[in-house]
Amino acid sequence: MLASTLRAVRGSSIAQLRAAQPRVSQLQHAQKRNLSIHEHLSMGLLQQYGVQVPRGAVAKTPKEAEKIAQDLGTEDFVIKAQVLAGGRGKGHFDSGLKGGVRLVYSPTEVKMFAEKMLGHNLITKQTGAAGRQCNAVYVVERLYVRREYYFAIIQDRATQGPVIVASSQGGMDIETVAAETPEALVTHPVDINTGLKREDAINVAKKLGFTGNTLEQAADTFERLYKLFIEKDATMIEINPLAEVHIEDGESKVMCMDAKFGFDDNAEFRQKDIFALRDTTQEDPREVAAAKWNLNYIGLDGSIGCLVNGAGLAMATMDIIKLHGGEPANFLDVGGGAQADQVTEAFKIISSDPRVSAILVNIFGGIMRCDIIAQGIISAVNQLGLNLPLIVRLQGTEVEAAKKLIKESGLRMFSVDDLDIAASKAVQMSNIVGMARKAGVQVKFELPI
Ligand code: GDP
Ligand code: MN
Repeated sequence: MLASTLRAVRGSSIAQLRAAQPRVSQLQHAQKRNLSIHEHLSMGLLQQYGVQVPRGAVAKTPKEAEKIAQDLGTEDFVIKAQVLAGGRGKGHFDSGLKGGVRLVYSPTEVKMFAEKMLGHNLITKQTGAAGRQCNAVYVVERLYVRREYYFAIIQDRATQGPVIVASSQGGMDIETVAAETPEALVTHPVDINTGLKREDAINVAKKLGFTGNTLEQAADTFERLYKLFIEKDATMIEINPLAEVHIEDGESKVMCMDAKFGFDDNAEFRQKDIFALRDTTQEDPREVAAAKWNLNYIGLDGSIGCLVNGAGLAMATMDIIKLHGGEPANFLDVGGGAQADQVTEAFKIISSDPRVSAILVNIFGGIMRCDIIAQGIISAVNQLGLNLPLIVRLQGTEVEAAKKLIKESGLRMFSVDDLDIAASKAVQMSNIVGMARKAGVQVKFELPI
């Protein structure tokens, strides 16, 4: 949530950032990560819960993909790039291939498409320009879809519990449906104590337009999805499309054609099997490194690296940097109870970004002790031989001890009490380093203590 909100406001004006401020308390509340898993793994989970999905299997090589198609024995197939991003159907590969989801008509064609997908990056509107690497493809039987629906269960802050969001306009972005035809959205909050009742599941299915033999099937699917959501500590289950698929004799079957799941990171200790499905090749390596050390990393586009504690302070720091005409390169949030070695790691991650031309440390010690931060900084500067201007603003618990440590270390850094001055110094120093780099000048810091 912190990451997505900061990403959403990156590049925005101060006025917009101000507008984002009321969200700060929410951010602090919701500072957590969500595990997301690949489609084929989600499909496996759905099957465990007795939910109908197309037959298929995952392949890591073109030959494997061809073999799966042969074994499926159908006339046509759908080949789907396994990257952790939505909008694959409308995406394109850096190999030139259009579409991360393709309809194909023979096992040989499956192999050809697998060659163009595997090892290449798929760019969708959710991935940014670099895209995400496709290391696996999911080959499934092609089915004849009569109607496409959207079905999701998410955690809702307003009702403080799960809520079903569904629509008869499936297959496309739910954001577009919400904006253009909000009346097509069905929402149904679920009481966590009673669970999803049969009559409610039937009601949702009716509102979506299910009738006849698919009505019971749809309601049954919703109940199973809800069970999965609760038992696996999911934060989101999104089925788009949930489809009414044609089978013989004019009959229809309700099936999940695509699935995106999010799981609560705080549940990792009791969902070991789910968390074992994580694929770190789909994540920002710096975020992965940060998570390993229990830190939160948010990459942005500017030049000032920021070490902070807490989401609120991150937002305020961003605001004040922008006020002084600068742009943050990243935020590393050390949270409440960080140890000195975590702070050292945080520094390594921040300074590994070549765009960083100054580092601003802004810590408000509460539970977090300033002297622990100071120890981490000193050890990082010593270990890394950091050649960047470092502006340190510490306030709160054990600040005097921290200042003493910094002073005695003899290391060069700007120690500033006032955040406004600290931010303006960071912007100034970052500009100097930036200009020097552009001119090809090697800067060596002879900074005051
Ligand atoms: P997304 O673009 O990442 O959401 O990927 P999807 O798995 O949702 O695939 C995109 C679209 O391909 C879906 O909305 C469907 O319309 C279509 N699609 C996927 N599988 C099948 C299938 O078996 N049969 C048919 N007819 N369409 C399919
Ligand atoms: Mn989809």
